[in-house]
Amino acid sequence: MNFERIKEKLNILADAAKYDVSCASSGSDRKNKGSGLGNASRMGICHSYTEDGRCVSLLKILLTNHCIYDCAYCVTRKSNDVKRAAFKIQEVVDLTINFYRRNYIEGLFLSSGIFKSPDHTMERLIAVAKKLREEENFNGYIHLKSIPGASDELMYEAGLYADRLSVNIEVPTISGLKLLAPDKKHEDFTKPMRKVKNELIRYKNERKVIKSTPKYAPAGQSTQMIVGATGETDKDIMYSATYYYKAYNMKRVYYSGYVPVLEDNRLPSIGSQVPMLRENRLYQTDWLLRFYGFAVKEILNDEHPNLDIDVDPKLSWALRNLHHFPVDVNKAGKRMLARIPGLGMLSVNKILQARKFRKLNWDHLKKIGVALNRAKYFMVCDSHQWERRDLDAEKIKGLILQNSTGKFRKQYSNQLALFTSEAT
Ligand code: SF4
Repeated sequence: MNFERIKEKLNILADAAKYDVSCASSGSDRKNKGSGLGNASRMGICHSYTEDGRCVSLLKILLTNHCIYDCAYCVTRKSNDVKRAAFKIQEVVDLTINFYRRNYIEGLFLSSGIFKSPDHTMERLIAVAKKLREEENFNGYIHLKSIPGASDELMYEAGLYADRLSVNIEVPTISGLKLLAPDKKHEDFTKPMRKVKNELIRYKNERKVIKSTPKYAPAGQSTQMIVGATGETDKDIMYSATYYYKAYNMKRVYYSGYVPVLEDNRLPSIGSQVPMLRENRLYQTDWLLRFYGFAVKEILNDEHPNLDIDVDPKLSWALRNLHHFPVDVNKAGKRMLARIPGLGMLSVNKILQARKFRKLNWDHLKKIGVALNRAKYFMVCDSHQWERRDLDAEKIKGLILQNSTGKFRKQYSNQLALFTSEAT
C-alpha cells in the first residue's frame, strides 16, 4: 500500500464527505501521535446510531469525488474545479479494517460521486460492504449511501450487507430539484427508497415466521435535506419530511444548513451565513412531531410558514395558543403535559408517576427536572407562588428571554425594563 497516496486520497475524500450529515456527523479529537495512518481528527471520523441506539464512530468517506452530474449545491459537481481522487475497493476495505483494529472506528460510512452510471457506482459501494462482511468477517456498522437511480436489484443486495441505507433527497421540493439538480429526477430518489421500505417490511414479516431469516438493513433508512439553498419555507421542509417519514418509513430525516462553496446565481453567495440556528429549529420541530404528538399544521401553516428563530418551536406554539394554558400538572393528560414549554418527555413521565402519590408543587417539579423558568408561565400546581394572570404572549416571551442565556436576550432588555416598571 502506498501510504502517502492513501493519505492524500483520504484527505480529499473525507473532506468531500463532510457535507453529508445523514450519519449525525461530529468531529473526533482522537489524534494519531505517530506518523502512520489514522489521524481521526482530520480524516473524517463521524458518529452514528446503531439499530439498538448505541453511538458508534465511523470512517466517513467517499469512494470517489468524480461525478458525472452537476448538482449546483454540491462541491463534487462535475463543473467544479477541485482535486479529484478515487479509492479502489480493496483500499477502502483495508482502511476500514486497519482503522477498526486500531480502535479508531467501529464502522464505515461510505458514499460516492456518481461515475459512469448510478448502477456502476452502487455496485462498487456494495462490493466494499460485501468484501468486508464475507472476506474480512467484519461485523462493525456499515452505512451505505444509495445512489439515486440505482436499480431495485442493487438496492436489495445493498441491504444484505449494510446496517443502514440512505438516499439524500437534498432539495426538499420537486421544483427546487429541477432548478438545482437537472440531471436527477424525483423518481431517482423515491424508487430506491420504496424498494428498501418494501424489503424492510418483507424481511420483518418473514422473521416472524422463520426466526433465522437474515437481517436486511437493520438500522433502516434515512435521508437528508439541504436547508437554505433555495427559497423553501420551513413549512415546505417539514411537510416534505413528514411525507418521507410516513411514505418510506424513514428512521431519520436530517437537515443540513447550506454551506455556500460555489458561486452560482441560483444559490446564496459565498460568505453567506450558514443557517445553523434554522437547522436547529427544524430538528426541534422534527422531534416535536415524532415524540410529542404535534401535527405539522399546528406548528407551521400559512399564517406561520417559518419557525421563530428567537424561541424554540414548542414555546412559539404555546405563545400563539395561550388559550390552552395554564395546564394543571396534577390533572392534565400526557398529551397536554407534553405541550408545556420546559417539559421534556422524561419529566412528563416522572410527573405522571409522582402525582399518583401526592399533589405536586413547584419544589417537586424542580426536583423532577422541569425547566421552571419557562414552564411556570404555562402551568399551575399545588402552590400559588408565581401565579400571574396579567401576562400576554409578548410579556411572557420577554421574561423568558430575559432569564435565558441565549443571544436574543439583549433585544428584549428595553421592552422588559418598560414592562417591569409597569408591573411593579
Ligand atoms: S450526484 Fe451527488 S455527488 Fe454528484 S454532483 Fe450531485 S450531489 Fe454531488
